[in-house]
Amino acid sequence: MKGTNEMTLSFSARSENEAFARIAVAAFVSQLDPTMDELNDLKTAVSEAVTNAIIHGYNSDDSQEVTIKASIEGDTVSIIISDQGSGIEDVDLARQPLFTSKPEMERSGMGFTIMENFMDRFDVSSEPGSGTSVAMMKRIESKKALYN
Ligand code: ATP
Ligand code: MG
Repeated sequence: MKGTNEMTLSFSARSENEAFARIAVAAFVSQLDPTMDELNDLKTAVSEAVTNAIIHGYNSDDSQEVTIKASIEGDTVSIIISDQGSGIEDVDLARQPLFTSKPEMERSGMGFTIMENFMDRFDVSSEPGSGTSVAMMKRIESKKALYN
């Protein structure tokens, strides 16, 4: 049985880095040989969490940093995306479908709902004034399972 394989990535809170972050995580996870569907789910969940960190956590202040920690253990990938920004007053309310604190920016309030649906496990921890961490896990069935 192999041990845990880990990676950490920190980058400036700039919207240009959303694509970089989701591609980097997809590249890391590719060693599990995911299907296109699994990969798309992961990339979407990572994008949503990184976007939230940048626009809500940091109010687009690009002097701040977003951190992604990912680990692979067996056939499961765990991803933690964190910021040290504003934090969330009421996490239960923020997680409700369609809840957004930025309706004027045409947000739809679906980011957390998407992460929850696309991943097998999903958890938000947040402290107003000190930041937010989103932890998620997904089991990768891998393409081999489809062909065998
Ligand atoms: P959408 O993701 O559909 O564009 P949204 O970002 O408002 O809209 P969610 O991603 O579900 O919706 O987030 C819900 C709310 O939770 C946000 O409007 C914001 O108030 C709060 N929130 C989410 N992530 C963070 C974060 N990292 N820091 C601070 N607040 C956050
Ligand atoms: Mg969002």
